[in-house]
Amino acid sequence: MSGNLLGSSAWPHPSVLTSLIQALLGFVDLPRFSLQTILALLPGIVLALLAVGIAFYLLTARRYQSSESVARSYDQWTEDGILEFYWGEHIHLGHYGSPPHQKDFLTAKSDFVHEMVRWGGLDRLPPGTTVLDVGCGIGGSTRILAREYGFAVTGITISPQQVKRARELTPEGLSAQFLVDDAMALSFPDASFDVVWSIEAGPHMPDKAVFARELLRVLKPGGILVVADWNQRDDRTVPLNPWEALVMRQLLDQWSHPAFASIEEFAELLEATGLVDTAVVTADWTEQTLPSWLDSIWQGLVRPEGLVRFGPVGFVKSLREVPTFLLMRLAFGAGLCRFGMFRAIRKAIPSSAGASQDVERRA
Ligand code: SAH
Repeated sequence: MSGNLLGSSAWPHPSVLTSLIQALLGFVDLPRFSLQTILALLPGIVLALLAVGIAFYLLTARRYQSSESVARSYDQWTEDGILEFYWGEHIHLGHYGSPPHQKDFLTAKSDFVHEMVRWGGLDRLPPGTTVLDVGCGIGGSTRILAREYGFAVTGITISPQQVKRARELTPEGLSAQFLVDDAMALSFPDASFDVVWSIEAGPHMPDKAVFARELLRVLKPGGILVVADWNQRDDRTVPLNPWEALVMRQLLDQWSHPAFASIEEFAELLEATGLVDTAVVTADWTEQTLPSWLDSIWQGLVRPEGLVRFGPVGFVKSLREVPTFLLMRLAFGAGLCRFGMFRAIRKAIPSSAGASQDVERRA
């Protein structure tokens, strides 16, 4: 077939191409392959490259080991600047409306923060309200909360490099400070903040019950908790099928996640602390955030200057994330994963965990 397509009348002549390749690689004594032979080998070469790519992808996964391994991953992403170049200050998905419409990638991310503020009822709070941003990244949301709502915000992350970069990005005079701290054992006393806020940090937490308790512990009585997170579908009644389990395994192993909770489970864990007043309100924002995954890949194509800036190593590093973006899109699009929103009010007087079982939950 290749002979018909590239016969003697085709230009450039196969022998010209072969000579050109040989001239380019002049120091290599290439055997005189005809283009037909090269084309015949092409499917095999493509398959071999694909196999090498998949092996590379699987073997270089960044499995969750401990909070130190999570910190190392984010330190590296911060130091090389690749994530910030493509994703800007926000290491979270964008909000594209409901139904979703086309939006600038970075605008969708800052829109997400304003949508979450409104959904959480934080836009009704006065300037000076104290906020803890748990798992703050390089402080994109932290700065919006301080600058545009006048809140006094403390951002914490497990990554020292993120704290350093967040401080660099924060203008003097803005009420936003950053600290290294572990969300599994926060260094703040009980009842320290008016609001506790967290975006897409939960999947890194090895014990979701401890995470839930820490979030509520540092909240003042009457204070508001607002969390946005990647979740898995509730598999307690219908377990994951083998394909779902395989996809989920990659989503966990590629980005240092020990586990995703389901929306239902995490709401139950919040209520089981006995620290929630009346109800945990949940919502599913999968539809609003879904375009983010393909948009992330699109950024690599429409901003080719990243290839020049970060060189071949940066190119390979960026390229190796593409399968995970696709798997995420697949999982969120097929209902295996869900984007969960959680809102809770801290109870005035802590009660026993058992008492919380009676609490009504609205979805
Ligand atoms: N909320 C930020 C970043 C989300 S990425 C944003 O929206 O831009 C997840 C964040 O969780 C990272 O900053 C990571 O360092 C942080 N994180 C992961 N495990 C943590 C832990 N145990 N304690 C504190 N932060 C943690």
